[in-house]
Amino acid sequence: MGVLLPQDCVEWWAPRDLHCLVCGEVPPGPLIFWQGATGALVLCPDDAAYLGAHLIGDAREATLASGRERHWAARATRAAVAAIEQRQRSR
Ligand SMILES: [Zn+2]
Repeated sequence: MGVLLPQDCVEWWAPRDLHCLVCGEVPPGPLIFWQGATGALVLCPDDAAYLGAHLIGDAREATLASGRERHWAARATRAAVAAIEQRQRSR
């Protein structure tokens, strides 16, 4: 992942499609650019920060759901039970 400056957009290695994955716009300033195994990902800076934070949370949730991190299971269970109890009290 890196930053694609406006003057770099014409380079051979720059992605042809400069539309942000999240908002669909082509921002005039620097872009966040990530070349993956199946193609390029382009994001404007605000959406890169938004997506990055949500990816971290989703990755954490997926790891907890997989049961691979046993030491987190009790903590996740307590949080889930507390959320369920709070929802039941608010009804
Ligand atoms: Zn965007």
